[in-house]
Amino acid sequence: MEMMLKEKYLELVNLLNKAATAYYRDDSPFMSDEEYDRLYRELLQMESSDHLLKVPHSPTMRVGADIREGFKKVAHSEKMMSLDDAFEVGEVEAFFNRLDFAPAGGFVVEHKIDGLAVNIIYDHGRYLKAATRGDGETGEDVTENVATVKDIPLEIPEFSDLGMVEIRGEVYLPLKSFNELNEIRQKTGEKLFANPRNAAAGSLRQLDPKITASRGLRFFAYAITGLSALPVERQERLHSFLRALGFKTPQFEKIAKIEDVETIVSNIMNLRSSLPYDIDGLVVKLNSFEEQKRAGFLTKTPKWAIAYKLPAIEKTTKINEITWQVGRTGVVTPVAELEPVEIGGVVVKRATLHNIDEIRRKGLMVGDTVFVRRAGDVIPEVIAPVEQMRTGDEMTVLAPYNCPVCDSGLVKDEEKIALKCPNISCPAKVTGSIEHFASRKGLDIDGLGEKQVEFLHEKGWLNSVADIYRLKDHVMFLSAERGWGEKSVSKLIEAIEKSRTVKFQNLLYALGIDNVGEFLAGELAKNFTIDELMKADPGMLTAIEGIGATVARSINDFFSNPQNRAVLDRLLKELTITYPEKSDLTTKILSGKTFVITGELSQPREIFAEKIKDLGGKVSSSVSKKTDFVLAGENAGSKLSKAAELSVKVINEEEFRQLVLKKENEQ
Ligand code: NAD
Repeated sequence: MEMMLKEKYLELVNLLNKAATAYYRDDSPFMSDEEYDRLYRELLQMESSDHLLKVPHSPTMRVGADIREGFKKVAHSEKMMSLDDAFEVGEVEAFFNRLDFAPAGGFVVEHKIDGLAVNIIYDHGRYLKAATRGDGETGEDVTENVATVKDIPLEIPEFSDLGMVEIRGEVYLPLKSFNELNEIRQKTGEKLFANPRNAAAGSLRQLDPKITASRGLRFFAYAITGLSALPVERQERLHSFLRALGFKTPQFEKIAKIEDVETIVSNIMNLRSSLPYDIDGLVVKLNSFEEQKRAGFLTKTPKWAIAYKLPAIEKTTKINEITWQVGRTGVVTPVAELEPVEIGGVVVKRATLHNIDEIRRKGLMVGDTVFVRRAGDVIPEVIAPVEQMRTGDEMTVLAPYNCPVCDSGLVKDEEKIALKCPNISCPAKVTGSIEHFASRKGLDIDGLGEKQVEFLHEKGWLNSVADIYRLKDHVMFLSAERGWGEKSVSKLIEAIEKSRTVKFQNLLYALGIDNVGEFLAGELAKNFTIDELMKADPGMLTAIEGIGATVARSINDFFSNPQNRAVLDRLLKELTITYPEKSDLTTKILSGKTFVITGELSQPREIFAEKIKDLGGKVSSSVSKKTDFVLAGENAGSKLSKAAELSVKVINEEEFRQLVLKKENEQ
């Protein structure tokens, strides 16, 4: 029994040490932080219930991991520590209650930036050296790399009379840079970084500092050491001091009582997803340096600060299967069917993988353990496989040759990225397009959702959008079906009848023409009737603002497809279309207004002049008392002073657009 416990303990020590090496030294973790933290706690638990178990190489006795080969070593003048962590507010309170004095100076609660700690040494105000934390005693020499990081001053005149001063803080990668970096790596086929922390650590610890410089790393300073006397007495003041020297410091709040940390925690939960960088928690510190000193240290952590860990936004799980889904446009998309995993309060079971190229670039296989990330309300994303977890049973993902729904041979789309089902009557396309047609922004037919459409299609009563208006012929049979009471059937029929009168823009959106969303449907509706649109050639279409060649082609293709025409012919007999106020009216919105155009605009002035005239306005070449607006671009000259002299309103392009929009809305 005894032996088994020891064995289990040593196994856990080894696993966590391996994980720490992969994480700290190689920037290539094979478990999520959440998993690591859970196992680490288990280890702590074992050690505290049986002191005899503890071995010196236990991760609970060590900071970080060994340093990476190829780097010179730097011994830290003062140990760089880790932080004890708490997962509940109560644990934070208990932590400070364990002190043998009652802190009078209050607390500072800082963002815990998810990057890596570095120590920067200045000699007489000159940047001298920088090192990673390493094992806490000795770090890697990253002097040249850190010098490329924005936010780090290379000269600090205020220190010129002092000897060595050390600034400690966190090097991190903003989310934007992280996404850009992974995008590039995906294109070049390089391994993706699992998260911004690993990307920051990987970017900083490059043997070639030029690579580091290209990554967009940033720095937050939070501590100063090496001084015989500190310039300030409290952490809160240290922030202002560091900021005055040119550093950025992490966001923080000051609290008097430890109980108040609760409010900060609940605020940060809401704020977290809007921050431009990842935080993995908050660091609660005693504010007074005097009190920090009095509290002291344990082996690897201070007794005056603790990390409150926020729920993980990234976890590992398994890809059980990859399924292929056919959308209403026929695009066939791979979806990762995941072992359900809870991330930020939501159970994630599936995640789209977009297309086969993305699967290849990310190197995903069926059966892989993968990192899944869900930040804020963003849809969950499979980031990368954990290659170290492969057993050899994983399977390469093959793209299907045939449509998973109708079995037709698939083709590549125009951009040669996505697979498409070319079969116009593919049930998935048919039901998908009917659902879209009936959706809220389309014909808004209540009670005609995915389940109902699929059922009615299977019954053979709904093969196109035109069939919707013939459903009433099947009422008798429908009411007899399971799950379709008389009441719900009559409600559905009522909703269908109501939809017969439809705004043109809603109908256009509902038809599901490629590239025509809500906005363009509105624009088209303002300029055409259905008959005109069916006949319009691409030239007439591209004359409308916002419509380019691709959209024009989609519209043309849609209306020239004989199957679509057949459905439309039937459909239009059922509907009464209402049109927005005709163009003539809307064109007069600037009538009576005189404009003078000057300066360099984004398009030739004639285009603006045309537009103004189209809308009923007048364009004049000189500013006078009769001028209503001067539309001014870059480098506008004397006309501006004239306008100012006569108190004529000057507007820029954006304001001009707003003016037109506003007038249109007033109509
Ligand atoms: P830590 O990251 O929890 O806390 C200490 C570190 O916090 C400091 O070194 C500093 O870098 C950082 N920090 C950020 N903002 C700070 C601020 N405002 N003030 C002070 N410090 C700040 O401790 P640790 O020992 O470095 O690492 C433990 C973490 O690493 C855990 O989150 C763990 O999950 C993760 N880890 C993961 C794996 C894995 O396999 N996934 C392996 C090892 C460690």
